[in-house]
Amino acid sequence: MQQLITPDEALKIILQQVAALPETTVPHHQALGRTLAHDIISDLELPPFANSSMDGYAVIASDITGATPDNPIKLRVLETIAAGAIPTQRVSSGACSKIMTGAAMPADADAVVMREETHVDRDGEVSILACARPQQNIRPAGSDVTKGERVLKAGSLVRSAEWGMLASLGQAEVSMFGQPQVAIITTGEELASLGEDLQAGQIRDSNSFTIAGLTRTTGAIPQSPCRVGDDPATLETALYEVIEKCDAVITSGGVSAGDFDPVRDVLQKIATVHFWKIAMKPGKPVMFATIKNKAGRAIPVFGLPGNPVSVMVAFEQFVRPALLKMQGRRAWQRVTIEVSVDTALRSPAGKVEFVRALVLPGPNGWQAHLAGEQGSGRLSTMTRSNALLVVPADVTYVEAGQTLAAQMTDWPEIITE
Ligand code: AMP
Ligand code: MG
Repeated sequence: MQQLITPDEALKIILQQVAALPETTVPHHQALGRTLAHDIISDLELPPFANSSMDGYAVIASDITGATPDNPIKLRVLETIAAGAIPTQRVSSGACSKIMTGAAMPADADAVVMREETHVDRDGEVSILACARPQQNIRPAGSDVTKGERVLKAGSLVRSAEWGMLASLGQAEVSMFGQPQVAIITTGEELASLGEDLQAGQIRDSNSFTIAGLTRTTGAIPQSPCRVGDDPATLETALYEVIEKCDAVITSGGVSAGDFDPVRDVLQKIATVHFWKIAMKPGKPVMFATIKNKAGRAIPVFGLPGNPVSVMVAFEQFVRPALLKMQGRRAWQRVTIEVSVDTALRSPAGKVEFVRALVLPGPNGWQAHLAGEQGSGRLSTMTRSNALLVVPADVTYVEAGQTLAAQMTDWPEIITE
C-alpha cells in the first residue's frame, strides 16, 4: 500500500512548486483585493499641512490661560477659514480665526478651541470658555505619514484601508502581483448542471460553485468551469487546453481508486505527480501535479476529491495557501482559535480529521457546536458551519468540553504584520 503523507508535508510540497506571479502595473481602481509588489514609500507628508481637527477657533494658547465659563476671555475674530481655503491673516495676540475641521492653520496660532467651548456674543468677537494646551486640536503636517516613510509593505493585501491610503498618497497606478486565473474542471458522468433536468442516477454539480466561490475569496479569479464526464481522453484534451490560459487548475472528483477515475490516470500519464493521498479525513484522495504548458511554465494541478465536503476541506488546506502565495501574499496566518466542543467525538487513528462545526461565543469562551453527522458527501454540514475543528492524527477520542483548534473558515486568514 502506498504511504500517505501528512497534510503539513503535502502543503510544503505544494508551496515549493508555486511562486508569485509576475507583477503588473494597474490603475488604482483595480488595486483593491490585490497584493502590492513593492513597498510604498511616501513622497509627501500626510497631512500635507497643519490643520484643525475640530470646528472651533484658532488661537494663541497663551492668550487664553485661565479661561473658564465663569472667566471667559474675549478675542477678536479675524476671518473664517473653511476646509480647502488658504488663511489670509496671521493670528496676533488678542485675536483668533474661526476654523473648520480640516482647514489649514493660520500662521502664529498654536491651538484650536472647539466651538462647544466658546460663546459668540456679537459679530467679530468670541468668548473663549476653556483654556488650551499648545498644539491642542491641531494635526501637524506629517503626523499621519512622514516623507520617505515606508507606509505599506510589499506582499501585503490591499484592503479598504490600504486602498484609501494609496489614494491619499496620490498613487494613481500601483505595481501589483498578478491574480491567478484558475481553471476548474469537474469530472463525473453522474453530474447534471443547474438548469438541466435530473435523469435517474444523476446529481447536480455543486463543486463547480464551491470551488469557484472559495477561489474568489482568495483573490484569485475562477474561470468558467468545464465539465468533462469520466472519459480520460476528454479530460486530457481539456487539461491541455486550459493550461495555455490559466495559472492553476483545480479538478474535482475522479482522483480515487475507482474504476472510472480519470484524473488519477490522466495526471499519471501527462503530468509530474508530486503526491497522491494524504493522511486526512475528509480529503484523502488529493493528487497534486504540475504540467508544462507550451511556454514551458509548470502549471499546478490540484486534483481534489469529488465529495462535496472533501473538496472544500482540501481547498482550504492546500489550494488557498498556494493561491495566496501565487498572489505574492506574505505575512498571513490562517485564523485558528481554541474552542471547546459541545459533543464527544471519535476520530480515526493516523489521520488528521477536519470536523465541521459552528463556533459561537459561549459563557466560557468560544464553543464549537458540531454540524451533525460528518459524512464527506453532506454539503449541508458545511452550510451549518463556520469552522473546521482539527483533530490531530494521534487523537481518537475527544470528550465533550475538551478543547480543539478551530480553523475559522469565515475569517480565512489574518495579516500578521
Ligand atoms: P469521485 O471522487 O469522482 O468518486 O466522487 C466522489 C463523490 O462525489 C461521488 O458521490 C460523486 O457523485 C460526488 N461528486 C463528484 N463530483 C461532484 C460535483 N461536481 N458536485 C457534486 N458532487 C460530486
Ligand atoms: Mg467520479
